[in-house]
Amino acid sequence: MEAASVAEEFAALYGREPEGVWQAPGRINLIGEHTDYNDGFVLPVALPHAARVAVARRDDGLVRVHSSQGDGAVVEFTVDSLAPRSVAGWAAYPAGALWVLREDGHPVPGIDLHLDSDVPFGAGLSSSAALQCAVLLALDELLGLGIERPRLARLAQRAENDYVGAPVGVMDQTASLCCTEGAALFLDTRDMAQRQVPLDLAAAGLVLLVVDTRVEHGHADGAYRRRREGCERSADLLGVKALRDVEAAGGRELDVLLARLPEEELRRLTRHVVTENARVREAVGLLDAGELRSLGPVLTAGHASQRDDFAISCPQSDAAVDTALAAGALGARQTGGGFGGCVIVLTEPAQVPGITAAVTAAYAAQDGWNAPAFFTATPAPGARRLR
Ligand code: ADP
Ligand code: MG
Repeated sequence: MEAASVAEEFAALYGREPEGVWQAPGRINLIGEHTDYNDGFVLPVALPHAARVAVARRDDGLVRVHSSQGDGAVVEFTVDSLAPRSVAGWAAYPAGALWVLREDGHPVPGIDLHLDSDVPFGAGLSSSAALQCAVLLALDELLGLGIERPRLARLAQRAENDYVGAPVGVMDQTASLCCTEGAALFLDTRDMAQRQVPLDLAAAGLVLLVVDTRVEHGHADGAYRRRREGCERSADLLGVKALRDVEAAGGRELDVLLARLPEEELRRLTRHVVTENARVREAVGLLDAGELRSLGPVLTAGHASQRDDFAISCPQSDAAVDTALAAGALGARQTGGGFGGCVIVLTEPAQVPGITAAVTAAYAAQDGWNAPAFFTATPAPGARRLR
């Protein structure tokens, strides 16, 4: 799917040339899960998989959007009619991009838009942020707004929260907009401070194998909301602004602190967030020191924490992790919001055939499990204009 073919499809649909083509990638998160809405740390990597949009402005306030992965229909609405959730389905993402820019004080025109994406939906690779960010970057450039990327990521998050209605944090959008090729993005979601941390897997003789469990997660569902609310309540009870602020505590110190929370569920949620923030910083330290193999146990510990404390894993993800480790992987964890999606596996290339065979067999042995899919992840560039 090249920029030229997205532009050609645009021309065939709308009978004119697009003003440009932009792309924004999906991501995996190395470590730092459910920390982003707790003002914490994350360490995502952009994927070669991306959403590409061809866009041209209109002068009549009409918006027409089409997706190659949609039902074939061109969805139409007007800029004037935009209000939270006024457009449903996938078109809510481009509608949300227009809405949030208008809310931010910019006059927005109508547009024609054609989308083509190879980020799988609902697989925890953030197809929604890829789409949202591709449209926002296109509008930012077409309208000459010059919005800094971290702020554009905040606007993308606001569109997903307030327009689409999904209570997501800011990691996915920042990864899509700010990641660079060959690096992981160390992001402090409190102040958006960020640093590119070189991640040369090949030089370390390693690969990141991604296992798509083929279990579709759902972000806007009650489970995500419940955890988010539990984290906020815990922070209140502990007298801090966000759970990120209990970062200093560890070991016994952490136990003493957790004992102040009145419910086991809150203690578990808090323990995950606090230890996960520590794991992100540990992982960054290992990458900086070039000790990539030592990242394995950190990933695996992160999985145990999200399985046992945050309770966002599922049998398919646990099976992929356990099977990969038994087949010689250095470390493995479910990545993304949880309840399925993808598992990342850090391993030597020589182990990949054995791991994929073992995971495939483990899934086949279970009734009703979809066959898993696999690819290897190489850190790709963030969002950019293609033409
Ligand atoms: P994730 O972001 O993890 O892939 P989400 O549930 O957050 O999962 O977002 C998936 C939704 O994003 C889809 O249901 C669809 O509405 C929208 N989407 C993403 N990419 C496309 C696309 N290429 N065409 C149409 N809709 C898309
Ligand atoms: Mg999403």
